Amino acid sequence: MVDSEQRSPLLDGHGRTIGDVRISVTDRCNLRCTYCMPERQQVWLPREGTLRFEEITRLVSLLSTMGVHDVRLTGGEPLMRRGLPELVRQLTMLDQVQDLSLTTNGLLLERHIDELADAGLRRVNVSLDSLDPERYRHVTRRHGLERVLACLDALQRSGRLTPVKVNVVAMRGFTEQEVVGFAELARTRPFVVRFIEFMPLDADRAWRDEDVLTGAEVRSIIEAVHPLEPVERAASATAQRWRFRDGVGEMGFINPVSEPFCSDCNRIRITADGQLRTCLFSIRETDLLGPMRAGATDNDLERVIRDAVWRKELKHRIGDAGFVQPSRTMSAIGG
Ligand code: SF4
Repeated sequence: MVDSEQRSPLLDGHGRTIGDVRISVTDRCNLRCTYCMPERQQVWLPREGTLRFEEITRLVSLLSTMGVHDVRLTGGEPLMRRGLPELVRQLTMLDQVQDLSLTTNGLLLERHIDELADAGLRRVNVSLDSLDPERYRHVTRRHGLERVLACLDALQRSGRLTPVKVNVVAMRGFTEQEVVGFAELARTRPFVVRFIEFMPLDADRAWRDEDVLTGAEVRSIIEAVHPLEPVERAASATAQRWRFRDGVGEMGFINPVSEPFCSDCNRIRITADGQLRTCLFSIRETDLLGPMRAGATDNDLERVIRDAVWRKELKHRIGDAGFVQPSRTMSAIGG
C-alpha cells in the first residue's frame, strides 16, 4: 500500500487544485445508449489490460495523499465488473477518501445495495433517460425500465445510499416529453433529478449542436408548471442547483455545452485500462498501467501524474472550430 504521508496538493497549470477522480472500472455495459455506445459493440478492453482492484486502490491511495479525496466509480456499467463491493471495501479503508460514489444505470443495483453500503459506498447516481418503457427501449436499445424503477424503490426503502441522484441526458426532440415527469419524480420522491446536456462523446459520432436541449430550455419547461429558485453552487460542482419555490424537491442542470463549468474544474479521470485523462474531452492520455506493472515506485507515479495534470486542458473546446471529438466513447471514459 502507498505510504500515507501527505504530499503537496495536485495542481494544474491554470491554478486549479484537483480533488476529484472518476475511475472507470470497466468499459462493458448492459445497455447501448444512442448517445454513447454503438448498436453493435466493437471490441471490449481485454481483461488482462484492465486495472486490477489493488492497482486502482494504489492509485486512489496515492492521489488521496495529494488531496484528491472524492472518488467516483463509473464504467461502462461498473456493476458489470465482478466483485465490485470488494473494491469499494478496499477504497473505504483509505483514510483520506472522503466521498465514495457510484454512477450506474441501475439495472443490476437492487440486489447489491446492502453489500455496497456495508462495504462503505456512500451514494449513487442512477442514469435514467425516460420514464416510458417504449421510449426507454428506444434510447437504450434494451428493455429494463421496470428494473431501474424497482431499483429506485429499493434505494428509497433502504435509505443507506444517499443522496440518490437521477441523471437524465437531455436530447432535443426526445427529452422534452420527459421533463415534467422527471420534475414530478423530484417532487414526490427523495431523489435529486439532474438533466445533463448531450455531449459529443457518442460512438456513432452523430452529435450535432442543434441536438442539444439546453439546461435553460429544460428549466423553462419545468418553470411553466413548477416555479424554481436557484441554490448556491458549490465550488467545482458540475451541476447548477435549483429547488422548487414551494420547497418540494430539487433539480440539477449540468450544462457543459451551453454553460461550461471548466474554470473551477477539479476533476481527473482514470480509464479501465489505466490511462489518466485530465479532461472528459482530452485527446491525449497518460499511461499509468504500464509504469505500474513495470515496477514504478510511488514517487515515479507521482511524477507522471503531476506532469500530466500540470498540462490539464483549460477547458473543453466544444463549438470551437478546432474541436476534436475524443476517440474514446463515453462508455470507455466513464461519467
Ligand atoms: S470539460 Fe474538461 S475541463 Fe471542463 S469541466 Fe469537464 S473535465 Fe473539466
